[in-house]
Amino acid sequence: MKMHVKLFIPGPTEVREDVLKEMSRPIIGHRTKEMSELYERIHDNLQKFFNTKNEVMVFTASGTGMMEGSIRNVIQNDVLHCTNGSFSERWFEISKANGKIADAIKYEWGKAAKTKDVEEKFKGKHYEGIALTQNETSTGVRTPIDDFFKLSREHDSLLLVDAVSSLAGDMIDVNKSDVLFAPTQKSFGLPPGLVTVFISSEAMEKAKKVTSRGYYFDFISMKNYYDEKKQIPATPAVSLLYALDYQLEKMLKEGMEERYNRHKKMASMVQKWAKDNFALFAEPGYESVTVTTVTNTKNISVDALNKALKAKWMSISNGYGKLKEKTFRIAHMGDLTPSEIQELLDTIDEILRVK
Ligand SMILES: *Cc1c(COP(=O)(O)O)cnc(C)c1O
Repeated sequence: MKMHVKLFIPGPTEVREDVLKEMSRPIIGHRTKEMSELYERIHDNLQKFFNTKNEVMVFTASGTGMMEGSIRNVIQNDVLHCTNGSFSERWFEISKANGKIADAIKYEWGKAAKTKDVEEKFKGKHYEGIALTQNETSTGVRTPIDDFFKLSREHDSLLLVDAVSSLAGDMIDVNKSDVLFAPTQKSFGLPPGLVTVFISSEAMEKAKKVTSRGYYFDFISMKNYYDEKKQIPATPAVSLLYALDYQLEKMLKEGMEERYNRHKKMASMVQKWAKDNFALFAEPGYESVTVTTVTNTKNISVDALNKALKAKWMSISNGYGKLKEKTFRIAHMGDLTPSEIQELLDTIDEILRVK
């Protein structure tokens, strides 16, 4: 591929040349038999790869679109958010912006959400849903979802999961959630523009009862359209569907287990490097599998480091928001390989040595 700056940032991620090429195919009409075949194959392969019978939908939007869509579809009034970083805080804001009665358990940035705190909240009142960020990209913190799902079932509540930067990299059982979503530009290793969503039968039943679900992200009309025509109500981003279709074939060949192992290996490499040279920002035991947030204990200029990296055709991310320069983030997601991660770490070492 043409020389370009390789992305080690937590989205959008590096996209391989063969995937980009898929997108240059001629556009087909969105009301054709070819489209029905394409979307049905994507639908079935998503269910197959993630080993689920949950409803699967693909919308033309970024992850934020489905943060809003998920809330609109299954929450009539009350929702409980767990916030532990910038994206989970955004989701809380989105619920309020949609007129929901939203509560939040606010964790310090860097910490993972804990079921005992949610359990405590349910003593005071009932929530229709719990909104949880499985992988908080601003801090590199991973919150496992299984116990939250168990708890949500015990309380007749729904578990909504933002798996935006982890699904297709981390090992996540989508069957342990009611609404779980991830866009294409993070661990799927695709360009931005589509968001996948997995919906349990309980959540579909709930959606039927929720009024003002909105129009564009309405799960019920999306399902009806699929059942009838195997198509999408609005015009989808056709080129991106080509890329997703192609990538799913590759993912099925690699397998979920192997894909996870590759991510885990890259995560271990970066975590070890971070501990040897700096420190990890995440609460111990809750480190993300797809992005590592490094605490800038040596007070280096992250901006200068990134400029030097760019001259060598690589790019990492500064800390997010208030963590800028205090931390920096290295993504190890999508189609990146351990050898590319090694090359990045060696290059950073080289830059920091010279200084
Ligand atoms: C990137 C990200 C989002 C926002 O997704 P967009 O596709 O940029 O709209 C939401 N949540 C998490 C955890 C993210 O990493």
